[in-house]
Amino acid sequence: MQSESMVRTRIAPSPTGYPHIGTIFQALFDYVYAKKHGGRFIIRIEDTDRKRAVPEAEAVIYEALEYYGLKPDEGPKYGGDFGPYRQSDRLDLYRDHAQKLIVSGHAYYCFCSPERLSQVRQARQQNGLPPMYDRHCRTLDPAQAAAQAQTQSHVIRLKVPDHETLTFSDGLRGPISFASDVVDDQVLLKSDGFPTYHLAVVVDDHLMQISHVIRGEEWISSTPKHLLLYRYFNWDLPQMIHTPLLRNPDRSKISKRHGHTSAFWYRDQGYLVEAVLNFMATRVWNHPDGQEVFTLDDMIKLFDFNQMHLQGPIMDLKKLDWLNGQWLRRLDDRILFDRLQAFLPAAVPADRFKALWPHYQDRLVKLADLPELTGYLAADPQVSPAALIKEAKMATQDLAVYLAQVSQTLTSLKTWQVTTIETALRQLQTKLKLKPRPAFMTIRLAVTGQSATPPLFDVLAALGLKTVIKRLNLAQKNLLK
Ligand code: GLU
Ligand code: ZN
Repeated sequence: MQSESMVRTRIAPSPTGYPHIGTIFQALFDYVYAKKHGGRFIIRIEDTDRKRAVPEAEAVIYEALEYYGLKPDEGPKYGGDFGPYRQSDRLDLYRDHAQKLIVSGHAYYCFCSPERLSQVRQARQQNGLPPMYDRHCRTLDPAQAAAQAQTQSHVIRLKVPDHETLTFSDGLRGPISFASDVVDDQVLLKSDGFPTYHLAVVVDDHLMQISHVIRGEEWISSTPKHLLLYRYFNWDLPQMIHTPLLRNPDRSKISKRHGHTSAFWYRDQGYLVEAVLNFMATRVWNHPDGQEVFTLDDMIKLFDFNQMHLQGPIMDLKKLDWLNGQWLRRLDDRILFDRLQAFLPAAVPADRFKALWPHYQDRLVKLADLPELTGYLAADPQVSPAALIKEAKMATQDLAVYLAQVSQTLTSLKTWQVTTIETALRQLQTKLKLKPRPAFMTIRLAVTGQSATPPLFDVLAALGLKTVIKRLNLAQKNLLK
């Protein structure tokens, strides 16, 4: 058993699809807070909504957490002293706890049919009332109801007190109060014996000794139900901390329709893990020294919920692009090349790419742009004669002659180096009285098929004489066809 004062945080995702970037955002703060205090970060799988659960979703949540370097200390995959960590493996516990509430008079059996419940809902809505249960079964005789429950389908509901103010102190927002009169007699145990979120989350957070419930602000409105459960079970309330939700640039809640909601989208675009974590942190927190670029370790040292700002954090991808660039320039080359390998087309020869990398490093935004930017390092480009003529501003015949002269000049070089290539081609340009732009752009286009590349002479050097000559000949042949 761990000491009472140990910091234990958790994320409690429902496995309903691909891992959401919001889960990673949440996990970041849970992880950082636990590590900062020498505590433990736990993952619990909340899979009691059987209609929504997707079997593969659990494994990809672990994959995403590990990919982002936020590996839990305890969980279904990781073990621990407080398992099982998957709610569908804990059904007996929820039933026992629901029973305890029945016995203590804080919960009751409800036998209402779905038809009756929807009539009640409709009638209330027509009268402009919130769609709450009308407490029809709350007045049943407990002994009779218990007997009836032996044979008849039922749910178990929470007894919410009348005319009370329910208050808790949120770690970020201070005291938050609710009138109990607008809190529904929530279903705790469904007719299939599965718990609802509200019962399961309270039972589990308590039994798993969670010290800080750090979760999204969308759960604030559920908290009064949880407060009552903690009270009825006679348990201490953990510190509740409701963090702001990620938003689209138009401030709407981040959703599939708008933003890039999958945690893997960022990986597949080639945003570096360091950049994504750094980016998410800067959405809600400023480094105390004003640094914009910082690591997960920096966060563990310095992060403090007191300095978290609550305005909706915006998924501003321009900012992420900028941070990714910062990280591309900062990461150690060895680490970086590893990451680049995943995006670099296999056909690109490593030595060509390495020679040119310093020029890409300053320009590259996302690693997913690499194939387009580097394709010419692997394969001969398709260059249309029209585009070449337009760039060169020469007659077709003159252009063909020029390309032949370039080939000759390069072939006669004694050493194949950026500087010797540059000197020779500049001499040729002067001798032919060409303007630099058409003279060099024409070569670039003929050899790479692109009008924007790293500096031309570096590109030629990296490609090697043989390839360059082959491509110049090809361009020339196409012109004269
Ligand atoms: N299962 C809930 C979710 O999917 C967990 C909410 C909580 O953290 O209490 O977000
Ligand atoms: Zn009922």
